[in-house]
Amino acid sequence: MPRTPPSALKTAVVKPLQTQSLQTFLDRADDRDRLPGSVIASLRQTLLSWYGQFGRDLPWRQSRDPYVIWVSEIMLQQTQVKTVLPYYHRWLTLFPTIAALAIAEQQQVLKAWEGLGYYARARNLHRAAQALMLNHDGIFPDHLTAVMQLPGIGRTTAGGILSAAFNQPTAILDGNVKRVLARLIALPVSPKRAIADLWQLSEALLDERQPRDFNQAIMDLGATVCTPHQPLCLSCPWKEHCRAYNQGIQTELPMSETRPPVPHKNIGVAVISNDQGHILIDRRRQEGLLGGLWEFPGGKVEPGETVEACIQREIREELGIEIAVGDRLIIVDHAYSHFRVTLNVHHCQHLSGEPQAIECDEVRWVTLTDIDQYPFPKANVQIIETLREKSIKAKG
Ligand code: SF4
Repeated sequence: MPRTPPSALKTAVVKPLQTQSLQTFLDRADDRDRLPGSVIASLRQTLLSWYGQFGRDLPWRQSRDPYVIWVSEIMLQQTQVKTVLPYYHRWLTLFPTIAALAIAEQQQVLKAWEGLGYYARARNLHRAAQALMLNHDGIFPDHLTAVMQLPGIGRTTAGGILSAAFNQPTAILDGNVKRVLARLIALPVSPKRAIADLWQLSEALLDERQPRDFNQAIMDLGATVCTPHQPLCLSCPWKEHCRAYNQGIQTELPMSETRPPVPHKNIGVAVISNDQGHILIDRRRQEGLLGGLWEFPGGKVEPGETVEACIQREIREELGIEIAVGDRLIIVDHAYSHFRVTLNVHHCQHLSGEPQAIECDEVRWVTLTDIDQYPFPKANVQIIETLREKSIKAKG
């Protein structure tokens, strides 16, 4: 296989990009025709035969129930299979049908999702189940437009569900597929700048006779062979036609957008105890990040402010009570998709005032035993574990 060494590539591919727009690239006849019918047929055939041999044995692939497949598709967004598996099994035990999910309390739903992150996914699943009961008699629709009207379901998720459940020829374009396709055609810009073209390519490649298997196969290829950092090209069924591989640039693609620096927030957090030894927690507003989850109250440390002063101010503003800020309990660093936080957590004692839900949906005094019933974000779970350890030590 003729391969260009990576050093030569810089001249061969990266340099021309500086003088050539995406449109020019896509408009060039040889690029537009870059996957002739015979190549497409070969790509389909080699991928499907590879899938027959190496496809992953995943529990949702045993089912044709669109609900089960939908749950797996949503859980797998931004999340690896091994992380999803226990959540998937537990979810289906708790909410085995659309109807069971629709009538569940949101708190139960968020608790079942606790630790999986991106909680809007759970809230949307729940809302969509209720919409299905209301508008579709609890039956998952088999039409792309209707599926895409459900909360939290975009084109790729809809395509994944319809192809897997009903064997419909609906293309997909998740992160793995974007990477595979960008490498296959040696896309000279970031996938973000060529979304329409990648959709077109995904549609052109999709094997209309076996759309279910084809979509599952390309997902597996991205997850197990055409991986982000060290693609296993020698084991890849597409190496013969893959432009990135044949130019020796597979590890340099897909091109990435230059990302702005990730902002960092310094947060003061209060674990407030009262005279009965109960702890104060609040439920975040529905809208926005981590909506509907419980947390220990607090807020952003302002410039020039100490953590202790921040906690005192935030608690007064958000809950209308006075507290004494005590020793530090723990510092927790946590990264979300678009920013990082440092939680500076302090023991605090309630002094006066009745807690009010001024900037949250609800407040509650709870015991360290009861606290397990409430869904918390991951960073707060660490605080609870530390509280438990300290409590056990104090008793021992
Ligand atoms: S040959 Fe390599 S870069 Fe190309 S699709 Fe296969 S694994 Fe990805």
